[in-house]
Amino acid sequence: MDHAIKLPKEIMPCRVCHEDLAYLEHENGWCVYVYCPNCGSQSAFCSYESEEEKEDAENRAIDLWNMGKVIAERRGE
Ligand SMILES: [Zn+2]
Repeated sequence: MDHAIKLPKEIMPCRVCHEDLAYLEHENGWCVYVYCPNCGSQSAFCSYESEEEKEDAENRAIDLWNMGKVIAERRGE
């Protein structure tokens, strides 16, 4: 059995604030990143140029987020 079903990757809870609210955010139809609405942290941007690349970019963005490649929002204190 070789099912090629792609399951959506799981987005891990935010490493900065530990809330499980992060989601994929698309930027003007050319790049995607994972964004945490609670603290404003985000993964690196992954750009794409087609529908096929879009899925790949989404997976990459989630991978980056899950690996902890997160850009934390800098806030004035
Ligand atoms: Zn957060």
